[in-house]
Amino acid sequence: MDLQLQEKSAIITGGAKGIGEAICRTLAAEGAKVAIFDRDVETATRLVEELSSEGKTAAFFEVDLTDLDACEKACAMALEWLGNELHCLVNNAGINDGAGLEHGPQPFLTSLERNLHHVYAMAHYCLPALKKAQGSILNITSKVATTGQGQTSGYAAAKGAVNGLTREWALELAPHHVRVNAIAPAEVYTPLYESWLASQDNPEETLKNIQAQVPLGHRMTTAQEIANLSTFLLSPCSSHTTGQILYPDGGYTHLDRSCTSALLK
Ligand code: NAP
Repeated sequence: MDLQLQEKSAIITGGAKGIGEAICRTLAAEGAKVAIFDRDVETATRLVEELSSEGKTAAFFEVDLTDLDACEKACAMALEWLGNELHCLVNNAGINDGAGLEHGPQPFLTSLERNLHHVYAMAHYCLPALKKAQGSILNITSKVATTGQGQTSGYAAAKGAVNGLTREWALELAPHHVRVNAIAPAEVYTPLYESWLASQDNPEETLKNIQAQVPLGHRMTTAQEIANLSTFLLSPCSSHTTGQILYPDGGYTHLDRSCTSALLK
């Protein structure tokens, strides 16, 4: 299938590592021009060099997305680089930072800054370019918005809001032929996941128990599996899909736990 992404323009937040990196690589492999928004200068620069050496078109825009003025400036620069037309906006950056009910309002608000405010800001600053290209927005949310997790009020609230915005924007932007969808990963082995696992008392056993609960294959989802679905959703091949929240998670979020809990240690 030709995904019709040749020469199409894309901005990916948190594109230096993990799920965002896999989306950048996959879009670039399909011929899209990718603008990576991230704060990890070293990793993003290495990725751009690698993609460029393969003849792909990529650029890095250093930004801490919690600074909304910096978001605006980075969007202006990237959109100029992309010719002021944007076919794909991927709101991917975020962190499950464990701001729970016990921690009080300030960590909660900080978590919203890390996970929610920039999602709105990016869509706002990219709006004219998205409308011009009749582009597509993809929000990377989390199963936590659906299932809860415990001790992570800020992240759960932010990702729940991102799900709400996905539906809200899909409706608002339908007259402009801009599609808006979301992907809710559950357990994907990325640098972020690796550092969370390392913080657990027994990382190996924790990983085994999580994998046991994934009905399909008893394994983690790969970042590439998220990127494959993302790329399809962003492409014109998904031309009548909007307002959807998809769960590429091996059945982790929705299938009956009683069928997998017997495998727990
Ligand atoms: P990751 O491995 O940490 O990669 C995310 C990238 O985004 C990193 O380079 C990170 O830089 C950057 N980033 C984060 N916040 C930023 C900010 N405020 N400004 C600029 N750059 C920022 O994360 P991931 O696991 O791929 O997660 C990507 C998305 O998927 C997140 O929204 C996450 O909530 C969601 N998700 C992931 C999983 C999972 O299992 N991995 C499950 C559900 C949802 P630093 O390294 O400097 O932070």
